[in-house]
Amino acid sequence: MAGISVTAVLHLRNVVKQYGDARALDGISLSLPDDSYISLLGPSGSGKTTLLRVIAGFERPEAGEIRFKGERIDALPPHQRGIGFVFQNFALFPHLSVEQNIAFGLTNRAIDPVTDSAVVRRKVKDMIALVGLTGLEDRGVSQISGGQKQRVALARTLVTEPKMVLLDEPLGALDANLRTRMRSELRSIRERCGVTFLHVTGSETEALAMGDTVLVLDRARIAQHGDADTIYNRPSSPAVARFLNCYNLLPGRVAGESFVSPVGTVSIGGLRQTAASPTYAIRYDRVSIRAKDAALADGETGVEGTFIASEYTGSAVNAFFTLADGSIFEVEQHLSHAAPSTFEPQATYRLAWKKEDALVYA
Ligand code: ADP
Ligand code: MG
Repeated sequence: MAGISVTAVLHLRNVVKQYGDARALDGISLSLPDDSYISLLGPSGSGKTTLLRVIAGFERPEAGEIRFKGERIDALPPHQRGIGFVFQNFALFPHLSVEQNIAFGLTNRAIDPVTDSAVVRRKVKDMIALVGLTGLEDRGVSQISGGQKQRVALARTLVTEPKMVLLDEPLGALDANLRTRMRSELRSIRERCGVTFLHVTGSETEALAMGDTVLVLDRARIAQHGDADTIYNRPSSPAVARFLNCYNLLPGRVAGESFVSPVGTVSIGGLRQTAASPTYAIRYDRVSIRAKDAALADGETGVEGTFIASEYTGSAVNAFFTLADGSIFEVEQHLSHAAPSTFEPQATYRLAWKKEDALVYA
């Protein structure tokens, strides 16, 4: 991504969407680069779908400005915006074939429908090749797999040559294996089209794996906007760290170079950021598990925890401990580094990390 394109394709300024008394979007401002993959991550109810619907023109915001390719589009109906939408449930026509589903968007679009059947056939054929459906043209869409339906839904949108594509949890209906495979497929399809994809997901791993840029939405506001590395290594608030599902978060207070928490006092050494409720954050994979009486090395800090159980996740093993206040502390050990260690249930261990690896919000 870096260095290829810095032109913004979409700008939102102070966009507000209200449903009765509830604010689904509370002053959203953002600027998205052209020719880029953007992930939009947020928990259920944070306003992700509403944000896509407002950009697409299915909902009118109460306030704010939307610019697309430099033009105000707030007042334009959806079909005049040049923005494609891929729905979570695919929304295919069940009685039409793969080819007919894809052609539908071209022959029936409100602006500039394609009437020349040779042109339709050529464009549909190219699109079928692009999304990897060659050979399935005449299949009914009820006779193809979930991953193939997802490709049809994408092809039906892309064939209309949108200048940007919005995807609402596009992999949500697929099983876990297929989900992971489709991530790189979607990224490479996007690269071949050269337009910006804005991909909504509730999965932190999907958002971080796919997005050149990641937007985090929290209770109707943008909580953080940055590249995946920055979001992962330096979440801007305890809320973002919590969504990422890879940080232990300790409550407490700062006292000089220490953080005093109900689970013990730990040293501060890494990044400090401001937040309303003081929180100490350490990533699951930055913690090592030692014998209870093992000494800490220079620059290390830690807490004591009681081992409960381990869980294998394929490439890693996650070990769970309880701390002095009963809260759960998680440690992730990558299996590529060493054979997994075994721990004694109910035994106490020292959980240690480098103090500069910890993030402090206060
Ligand atoms: P997400 O996609 O992140 O799960 P949504 O954008 O669907 O979140 O919803 C954001 C908030 O707006 C939620 O509180 C939801 O209940 C509310 N909401 C969404 N659509 C409507 C609607 N048509 N009418 C009333 N409230 C809505
Ligand atoms: Mg949604």
